[in-house]
Amino acid sequence: MSGQSFKMRAEHKAPIIGESLYLWAGNQFDLPRVHDSLQKRELTSRVDVYQLSTADWLSHLTRGTPPLGVMDYSCTTSHSNIYYFGGDCGHDDCYNNTLNVLNTIKMEWTSCSNAKQSLMKKSLAGMISLEFDGAEYLVIIGGLGSTPTVYHPQFQYDQLNDGYVRTNEQLLYNVSTGQFTVPSVSGQCCPPTDGFIIEKITTTGNRGIMFGGMVTVNGDETTFTNSVYILSVTHSIINWEILKPGAIPNEGPWLMERFSHASAIINGDSTSPTLVVIGGLDKNTQLVNECLLFDSMTTGQYSCRKIPLPESVTGRYSHSLTAVTMSPHCVWLVIVGGYERFRMKDVGGGKKEPISTLIGDTNRLIMIIELVYSEAGEWIVQSVLDGNDLTSKNYQEKYELYSKTRTWWMDQLIEYPTEREMKLQRYIQSLHEDLQVAHESKVSLQEALVEANKQVKGDDSNDIMSSVLEEMRQEQEKLIEEKQIITEDHEKLKLKVADNEVFITEILEEKTQVEEKKQIITESYEKLKVTVADMEEEKEQYLKEKQIIIDDNQNLKSDISEKDKVIAKLTSQSLAVADVKGLRVEDFESEEYLVPVVPDDPLLQIDWEEEGKIEEWGDTSLKERLELTEKQLLLTRTALDNALKDLNQMKETMRELTTSSTDPDATMETAVEEKDSYFSNYGHHGIHEEMLKDKVRMDSYELFITKNTEIFKDKVVLDIGCGTGILSLFAVKAGASHVFAIDQSPIIYKAVEIVRENGVDDKITFIRGEVESARLPVDSVDVLISEWMGYFLLFESMLDTVLYARDKWLNDKKNVYPNRCNMSLVAMGDEYEYNSKIKFWENVRGSKQTKN
Ligand code: SAH
Repeated sequence: MSGQSFKMRAEHKAPIIGESLYLWAGNQFDLPRVHDSLQKRELTSRVDVYQLSTADWLSHLTRGTPPLGVMDYSCTTSHSNIYYFGGDCGHDDCYNNTLNVLNTIKMEWTSCSNAKQSLMKKSLAGMISLEFDGAEYLVIIGGLGSTPTVYHPQFQYDQLNDGYVRTNEQLLYNVSTGQFTVPSVSGQCCPPTDGFIIEKITTTGNRGIMFGGMVTVNGDETTFTNSVYILSVTHSIINWEILKPGAIPNEGPWLMERFSHASAIINGDSTSPTLVVIGGLDKNTQLVNECLLFDSMTTGQYSCRKIPLPESVTGRYSHSLTAVTMSPHCVWLVIVGGYERFRMKDVGGGKKEPISTLIGDTNRLIMIIELVYSEAGEWIVQSVLDGNDLTSKNYQEKYELYSKTRTWWMDQLIEYPTEREMKLQRYIQSLHEDLQVAHESKVSLQEALVEANKQVKGDDSNDIMSSVLEEMRQEQEKLIEEKQIITEDHEKLKLKVADNEVFITEILEEKTQVEEKKQIITESYEKLKVTVADMEEEKEQYLKEKQIIIDDNQNLKSDISEKDKVIAKLTSQSLAVADVKGLRVEDFESEEYLVPVVPDDPLLQIDWEEEGKIEEWGDTSLKERLELTEKQLLLTRTALDNALKDLNQMKETMRELTTSSTDPDATMETAVEEKDSYFSNYGHHGIHEEMLKDKVRMDSYELFITKNTEIFKDKVVLDIGCGTGILSLFAVKAGASHVFAIDQSPIIYKAVEIVRENGVDDKITFIRGEVESARLPVDSVDVLISEWMGYFLLFESMLDTVLYARDKWLNDKKNVYPNRCNMSLVAMGDEYEYNSKIKFWENVRGSKQTKN
């Protein structure tokens, strides 16, 4: 089936997996208006697959039982699976409430529903898949349908005057365990709504955005809405937040009510997620005819703008919209089908019925909008391709160009492990396609055989017929042989597919095991780190103590020898008191005074350096002196302990100052988001521009690296947190044989481009990911470079990452640059801050609140 001859349809979805869009059911001319029948099954057992590479449609037969809800179902993908929920059965206001999954590798349907699930039968609901707490969930929300059998108290069900029920019912489905949960809600939940759009707004995370649809007013009447909601999901609660007008600055007059619009999310690797909304009907049931972009949703700095697109694209409703990432800076929006006109038709007896007209223009049935991310940091329309353009050579060239760059990206960036899995899955998919083709030819051969047999039986009396019969027999034999070959191929392919599936399961198991091991190793590593740090501190204290004692003993020793000299002189010369008073130290320099008065004087046998420190001298006995030493040691230890406590107290205060919340639970919850936003902050050009313009910083790194070629020459260098890759470039300049550069932030894509632009891409390998979970193609490196210093030196906590990398990869554990830092602290007072933060509590409107 070619793009031109693709059937008109609406009220469908077009989820993407790999490079194919899967179109199942939807409203179309030959849809049998019945609940279930062979004819309906014939239609629903086929999925039309749009191949981006060839711009062509292939019709695939499916196995298993397809769902009955064929129009306005909800749909979302998870790996190679497509989930379908609910939908309109296509006859007499009948709705469906089952959750079904289409495995696109096996092309097989399975039902996920179970008896415990008690959702309303409905269409026009919303479904997204979210990943959090290490599990994947489907979230199903709202919709319009028939009277429910179970009313969940936390949700609302609006009984409308035309017999339908509209709801804001919500359900969670844990994809791994197959468990359904009816969640509780918090925050400002949406009212019963249908015909809205919903998308997840973080690639891995638990938040979604919902916009527009129909809601109820005055108890049972319908109106259109322009509300925007953000929902955050946990395994048992969905928290809702409504975006009030004004939350989107400059939203302008265009953010108007709409229904049956379509959306897609651009989770661009190098940009924050952007929601695209196209088409729909407005409150006067006229075409909305516009394309909206919602930006910066993860940061809470929402923005919304309208981008110009021809009416041939936007003038539709109940269509599908699919985003395909072609490169980190280019997205294709594929728009399929929909209706182009809405009107109320008089059906007699004063009754009117809504009539929707399917888009019939073959050039509009499938269209692609090419969006590119501009230098100014905005998505802009690069081109719009209609059905005609898609069959042209130009398209093929364009696609090939992107797919080349795509392959190039893959080669430049090492990304573990999903890409490998994807390749395998694509391979399996192609095997399935081969299998399908083989199966179809087998069927047609069988049919031909049956036909031939029939003809043979029909008449075998005359000669001509018998020669025809002979010919046919031969033909038949040939066919049987061919059939045999095909069946064998078929079996082989089947085996291959089974093998690959086992392989995938093994890989997945292996992955889980490695992850578990990693967890254990990280934990013991953390513990070890703490112990080593403690030991190092103790060692340092001990060394300091030792130094003090050695110094003191040194003093003591010279004291003793001075005094010994005096005693010696006094005893040998029997000087008068007056003489003694006139003596100077120099008078005792002569060797003669070094002879002890008492031979083998025990006092002189003591090694004072070994025995400790004695300050008091005079007439005190040796024992007393030693006791004194011990006391002093004790005092020193107490002082040291106090200093340690102070240090810990200081660290604690620092921690509190740098984290906004001290509630450990709250910190846990926000940790993932903070990490996400940390790396997405580093995804912006601005922060890197600032760093690259910092002259002192840049001079220091450049001079150090390029002037110390003996450190870098012919060495394998690791750049931790490479950002734009500038340190890696310096290392290459200094003669490094190869550089491995790791960064989690999307800025790494820029680094890849920069390095290519400078012609050193064969010298640098980029690895996108967190250092703590990244793998290197080599076992060890010679030199480690990094710019890890944050505000107040340790802010950003990146030092840990550098130390982790050093311990894991650096062969001699020494060559880390920079390797020395100073921190200077100064105390200061701020009366204004003191008064406003501390003194304030002494008198709050006359009452003392200092115990808070
Ligand atoms: N080396 C660059 C950028 C330094 S900024 C330059 O000198 O210009 C620090 C970089 O480290 C950021 O890009 C940040 O995304 C990255 N980074 C911080 N912690 C990381 C971690 N744990 N894993 C991977 N990258 C990290």
